[in-house]
Amino acid sequence: MVDVLRQKGIWDEKVLAAMSRVERHFFVDMPFVNRAYEDSALPIGQEQTISQPYTVAFMTQALELKRGEKVLEVGTGSGYQAVILAMMGCRVFTIERHLLLVTRARKMFERFNLRIASKGGDGSVGWSEFAPFDAIIVTAGAPDIPQPLKDQLADGGRLVIPVGDREIQKLLVIRRLGAEFTQQEISGFKFVPLVGKNAWANGGA
Ligand code: SAM
Repeated sequence: MVDVLRQKGIWDEKVLAAMSRVERHFFVDMPFVNRAYEDSALPIGQEQTISQPYTVAFMTQALELKRGEKVLEVGTGSGYQAVILAMMGCRVFTIERHLLLVTRARKMFERFNLRIASKGGDGSVGWSEFAPFDAIIVTAGAPDIPQPLKDQLADGGRLVIPVGDREIQKLLVIRRLGAEFTQQEISGFKFVPLVGKNAWANGGA
């Protein structure tokens, strides 16, 4: 899987090392275990998916993380992305709207012996108690950038979020410098919808 990621242009060795250490088959639904190392999104229950490895690698690389940085993930899903971030030495906070997925993800955090703060709820409002964050990653597609996530970004912080309609999104990389925000756009990603107060009203799942 890591060789495929390299071929597709992932160059950050810290990301590749973390992804080579974390067994993805623990995170997918049983019938899909034999496909766990394909570069594709796979079902995790609750009509949700674990993201394609290339997408995980690309978004993580775009966060430009350093050890010890504080990272908020919106959309815990299976817990795979959170484990990758923690394996890279980050302090991870993650929010998921489906409580069953939170419970399952916590078991993964225990399995990997990682301290990751997690909660069930609407991540489109962020997690103000622990803000500011050095980096924020949103793993579901939003109609717009939720304002609380920009507000909860530290000076010098990075936010990676897919924004678009329900079918196709652009990946936005936002950087905060003081009161200024810069934005870079990368096209052609597809995510399940971000559902919440500052997101889509209803995901049907
Ligand atoms: N990062 C996940 C992983 O490693 O398995 C993949 C997540 S999946 C592509 C997106 C997740 O975002 C889904 O589990 C979905 O339930 C969740 N989600 C959607 N809207 C949300 C919201 N407002 N707050 C928190 N989670 C949300």
